[in-house]
Parts: sequence; structure tokens; C-alpha cells
Amino acid sequence: MQAVSNTQKPYYVGAHVSAAGGVQNAPLNAAAIGANAFALFTKNQRQWVAKPLADETIEQFKANCAEHSFLPEQILPHDSYLINLGHPEAEPLKKSRDAFVDEMQRCEQLGLCYLNFHPGSHLKKIDEKTCLATISESIDIATQETEQVIAVIETTAGQGSNLGYRFEEIAAIIDKSRFPERIGVCIDTCHIFAAGYDLRTFEACEQSFAEFERLIGFDKLCGMHINDSKIALGGRVDRHHSLGQGEIGWEAFRYIMQDDRFRGVPLCLETIDETTWPEEIQQLRQFAGEKQAAQ
Ligand SMILES: [Zn+2]
Ligand SMILES: [Zn+2]
Repeated sequence: MQAVSNTQKPYYVGAHVSAAGGVQNAPLNAAAIGANAFALFTKNQRQWVAKPLADETIEQFKANCAEHSFLPEQILPHDSYLINLGHPEAEPLKKSRDAFVDEMQRCEQLGLCYLNFHPGSHLKKIDEKTCLATISESIDIATQETEQVIAVIETTAGQGSNLGYRFEEIAAIIDKSRFPERIGVCIDTCHIFAAGYDLRTFEACEQSFAEFERLIGFDKLCGMHINDSKIALGGRVDRHHSLGQGEIGWEAFRYIMQDDRFRGVPLCLETIDETTWPEEIQQLRQFAGEKQAAQ
């Protein structure tokens, strides 16, 4: 999927920044906190429909990205929370699929290469296997409506009937797709921890990411959400915390910043106190620097 091996690229570290006032402001907000990666919503994430992006907005977004040296591969747009690509009922499923196509097209218009989304929920009305197949079909519909945006499935905490909390489920979605080359994966550290993948020690990280490699593969990794967790291991609830303040602790974040497999993809904070984002970014970079200094 990637021409240059990620392991030769820099670390891209940032946060999910505000796009208030227009998407063109997101790269400015990212630059202001010292980020070289960012996540954003390209429309209001709590509404179904949005005005199409104006040409002027698109141009300004691209100009601001160029000005602050953000390449598309350093940017991880996130879709609306309303979308459920595995919806058990025909009408809401259609609504979700239409909205997802629109989100993919917006990313393409902005010159971006990824769209990050939560896989979907069965709402206890269909079995998991049927729901996973529905999600694969939804992704295929959207990839056929766009040229090259990669649909980036986010690992979930497994709250309620949300699927995608086991790596096997994500692998099943990719397997069922007719265009697997158009699918990537975003690991959210808070979510996988809440889903039961331990990250509290170096050894635990080795084991959890080996599982990821075995079932999905690092060639599929297109981004990460870097969050600590308020919820204990396996708690299956999605509650982010500031780095080092939660149940995961600093060791996991040191591990990620000292392992070359996490280079070259946007690593985006979604931690709860945005006033500490500049320090969190700095701390993550310091971990990467420690390794370089030791070599
Ligand atoms: Zn996330
Ligand atoms: Zn979350």
C-alpha cells in the first residue's frame, strides 16, 4: 500500500484539532500546538448533512497545509458519529451509506488520502457475522464512489453493540471486501486497552502488537489515536484520559515512540485536556529522541 517503507519516515505526532470556522483552520490550529499531524472533522460530526465544501475553502485548506508542511499522509479526517455502516435496518443503513460516501468525497476534494471511521453496531438485531459483512459492503460502495481515499477502520472499545474491538473482527471486514487495498486500520490505544489488549508494560505491548501483526498486519496501519484510558483493562467502555494519568500509563506511549512500526502515520491525541496537548506532543517526541540518543 505504501511506496516508501514507513519505518524510514519521521514520527507524525498531533491531535484531533478544531475545524471551527471552516476546515481551513484545522492546519493552523495543529501548527499552533507544535503538531506535525492532525485529525479533524470535515463537517459537523453530529449532523447528517452539510453544505458542500466551497472551492475557496478547499483552496485555503490546501494552502494552509502547504504553508505548514502537512502532507495528506499526516492528516487523519474522522467521519460523523451518526454513521453506522453495519445498521441492521434498510433505511438507516442507506442513510449511513450515503453520508459515508459524502464524507469520502469531501476528503478527496480536500486532497486527503484517509477517512477514519468506527466500523458499526449490530444494535442486537442481527448477528455479528451479518453485521461485519454489511460493513464490508458499505465500505465497498464508498470506495467505488471515490478514486483513492483509504477507508480507515478504527479499533473500538466494544461498548454496547459496537463491533471492531477484536482484531479478528477487523480482519473479517477486510477479508470480505472486494477492495481490501482501499482499507486501512487506525489503532486507538484507549479503545484496544478497554477491549482487553494490555499495554501497561513493554512485554504487554510486545504481545498486543504482535497480535495486531498476526491478525491484521502493520502494512494496514494508517494512523493511531493516542489516548490513556479511565477504564480498566477489558472494561469495554470508551473513556479517554490524558497521557500517563489513566490506567495505561506512560510505558505504552514510550513503546510506540521507540518502535519504527509506528513511524509515517498520523498519531493523534484525543486526550481530554486540550490545554496539555503541546506538552503531550513534546513528551512523545522526547521518547523518540531518547531512542535516537541511545543508538
Ligand atoms: Zn479514537
Ligand atoms: Zn474513544
